[in-house]
Amino acid sequence: MPVLVASDLDRTLIYSAAALALTMPDARAPRLLCVEVHESKPLSYMTETSAQLLTDLGDAAVFVPTTTRTRKQYQRINLPGPAPTYAICANGGHLLVDGVSDPDWHAQVTARLAEQCAPLAEVQDHLMATASPAWVRKHRIAEDLFAYLVVERELLPEEWVKELAVWAENRGWTVSLQGRKIYAVPKPLTKSAAMYEVARRTGADLTLAAGDSLLDADLLLAADRGWRPGHGELADAEWTAPAISALPERGVLAGERILREFLKATRTTTP
Ligand SMILES: [Mg+2]
Repeated sequence: MPVLVASDLDRTLIYSAAALALTMPDARAPRLLCVEVHESKPLSYMTETSAQLLTDLGDAAVFVPTTTRTRKQYQRINLPGPAPTYAICANGGHLLVDGVSDPDWHAQVTARLAEQCAPLAEVQDHLMATASPAWVRKHRIAEDLFAYLVVERELLPEEWVKELAVWAENRGWTVSLQGRKIYAVPKPLTKSAAMYEVARRTGADLTLAAGDSLLDADLLLAADRGWRPGHGELADAEWTAPAISALPERGVLAGERILREFLKATRTTTP
């Protein structure tokens, strides 16, 4: 029976230059591998050690990249190791099988959203009406499933985020603040539902997960074991649960530690 590893990517396994959080002298910094290029510029990194660990993990377990990114944003990431058979994009809205979205899964998800929460258009209108151009740089719709804003963090009023969270909660939506992005995501659109589906299809008997943000909480709770880094929304909230390990490492070195933990847990389970 295979082990399934469903891991968030951004600020869990891969890191932008701003999120590396390196604290050692430059001469002792780990060598970094660029795993994402955007508009011809390097954007995301992991350590070379992480690259080897991820390759080993891909050979030992069913590794499932599990991200809020759109398919297009996911597909420009070039992860080391064997190409994953399954990948979860758009916070569970798309289940890629050999790189192609499963239409049945997507239809199931959109039917659930239509039934269980306010429509995207209502949320989009609210964001347009209440977010100030003084601090919003971009309004974005992702895969016709959810919305996010790119903001100037220093100018963003904390009070506005709190009010938005309450407004969204009453309509069956969640708000997550990650770096310069504020996400508004339907509550029934989850990484965990897609992970359960992959577990069902692969017959996995052990599920492992990692993530750093509020949108990863349901994934961590759904897995048999989970890890979260020492940075991010979950760490800031001191969020934890019985099967979750809160790691002390921050930044790109947390990614390395998470991969070590995945491998250790996989190897103690499969002979
Ligand atoms: Mg993340």
